Amino acid sequence: MKSDTFIVHAGRHPADYHGVVNPPVYRCSTVLYPTVQALEESDHHRFDRMTYGRYGTPTTFALEEAVAELEGGFRSIATSSGLGAITGALSAFVRTGDHVLMSDAVYFPTRRFCDTVLKAQGIETTYYDPLIGSGIEALMRPTTRVVMVESPSSLTFEVQDIPVLAAAAKRHGAVVLMDNTWATPVFFKPFTKGVDVSIHAATKYIGGHSDVMLGLITTTEEHYLTVKTHISTWGFCAGSEEVWLALRGLRTLAVRLRQHQETGILLANWLRNRPEVAQILHPALREDPGHALWYRDFTGACGLFGVILHPYRKEAVDAFLEALELFALGYSWGGYESLILPTARGIIRTATSWQPAGPSLRIHAGLETPEDLIADLEQAFIHLREKA
Ligand SMILES: *Cc1c(COP(=O)(O)O)cnc(C)c1O
Repeated sequence: MKSDTFIVHAGRHPADYHGVVNPPVYRCSTVLYPTVQALEESDHHRFDRMTYGRYGTPTTFALEEAVAELEGGFRSIATSSGLGAITGALSAFVRTGDHVLMSDAVYFPTRRFCDTVLKAQGIETTYYDPLIGSGIEALMRPTTRVVMVESPSSLTFEVQDIPVLAAAAKRHGAVVLMDNTWATPVFFKPFTKGVDVSIHAATKYIGGHSDVMLGLITTTEEHYLTVKTHISTWGFCAGSEEVWLALRGLRTLAVRLRQHQETGILLANWLRNRPEVAQILHPALREDPGHALWYRDFTGACGLFGVILHPYRKEAVDAFLEALELFALGYSWGGYESLILPTARGIIRTATSWQPAGPSLRIHAGLETPEDLIADLEQAFIHLREKA
């Protein structure tokens, strides 16, 4: 079966719900047992059953089952946010004295977690060049427990050589965690590339409508209980409404992504021929430095990409951003609407330097008609040039 078919059929058990296509929202804390024996046999230390609301409901299990199948992992675990999925998964594998290798282009809140919480626990993080490839070998220590990758990175869009990084991690007994939010479970299959734990901000494309905060962790069979037990021990769980919305969003993920991809590539190609633009950061474009790896390992691109302008003054860039009518200013992405974001303040590097030729922006191509989006950019560029 291919992704589109999994997306429609995975995790569905209509017979359990009177034949209804979708499971209801189970609002649940307490689960009742008919007898003392049933209560005693329920084994509430097994966190993967219907024993108590915190460990999941049939709605949660339906989402987790569907995502695990789609991604090709063993099982998934829903958490309260994408960041919660990252911090929960990372901390499941490290103890005082351990060492983490982290991409220098990682999502900033992941870096903050390493530099504060993990550091305070005596866990050291070394940031590596996302393009290091086999050079990662030289950074491995006997204490390295985790190699974390994020590809492409969500502000600067470097594509990492995941099979090479994963092979090095395996040789040294480290687990590979991936933030796979950009590609979604549709466009990158992490478990065929050596990843052990794949993490999604389901807040983005899986939810797909800018109204959900949710994380998902998918693991191999080997690591499932480690992560599930850790998450459950901390008391992390996902809300009932959120898992239901994410399950609903998931059913249209593939078809939405095709349009996000098409519009994103169209906008990127249009922008790259504009006199105001110095560079496009989009791995699906042939001239992008990450194109070869993206082409080898991914089956598509989402609607998120970067734009570097020529060196315009801040006033001119601000005028451009505020003149846009269809592209809204906002963090996050993956919803149906187009967004734009100046990114310079969010790009923090310690192992590498990132020096764009001019102001850097990130665009999320939404589901509007592409011609309207282009017309909007075109009129806003007039304001950029006027203030130049
Ligand atoms: C948004 C995002 C996250 C965090 O997800 P939240 O649900 O907002 O906590 C993690 N990684 C990437 C790449 C993201 O874009």
